[in-house]
Amino acid sequence: MGKLIVISGASGVGKGTVVKEMMAARKDLFFSVSATTRPPRPGEQDGVDYYFVTREQFRDMIEKGELLEYDEHAKNFYGTPRAQVEQKQEMGHVLLDIEPNGAKNVKKNYPEAVLVFIMPPSVQELERRLRGRNDTPEDQITIRMERAKWEMEQNVWYDHVVVNDDAGRCAREILAIIDQ
Ligand code: 5GP
Repeated sequence: MGKLIVISGASGVGKGTVVKEMMAARKDLFFSVSATTRPPRPGEQDGVDYYFVTREQFRDMIEKGELLEYDEHAKNFYGTPRAQVEQKQEMGHVLLDIEPNGAKNVKKNYPEAVLVFIMPPSVQELERRLRGRNDTPEDQITIRMERAKWEMEQNVWYDHVVVNDDAGRCAREILAIIDQ
């Protein structure tokens, strides 16, 4: 059985790039694809980045106990389908890109999970990256920056805190943590 690796970090911190670098470097890592009610961003693929579902479908997954954890974030629901995590754990380590409420629930149910928090080099840099992405409306940027500040305060109870000053370097640091 592979390990459960939870990766959190504020929106815009570059988690996606770090995760891609990690997956490119190693064949024994599998990404947990979450279900979400938020609409796809340009370039995002259903079943690859997320399972894009309706609120009704999401509610149905909750009621059937199909989610390992879930949370509401920026007015949308996000959750981890349990079955795919268990299948992927048979093949290797599973990476969960989830926010702190979800991370806390994973740790409660799976104390052996490894929780890693990715910090930006600075708050200013985080806001710059979020705006630079050009795919997030202004009202969402305000919500996400407020949320980011709360999220970063949560890093105290993570097992490891890493700084994304460079995606490749950050990815290597997390891989070393997984191999500990
Ligand atoms: P985004 O909309 O930018 O893709 O993700 C927003 C936030 O939702 C990120 O912090 C991401 O880590 C979190 N997230 C993605 N999938 C899940 C999930 O399955 N469960 C929880 N709790 N959070 C998730």
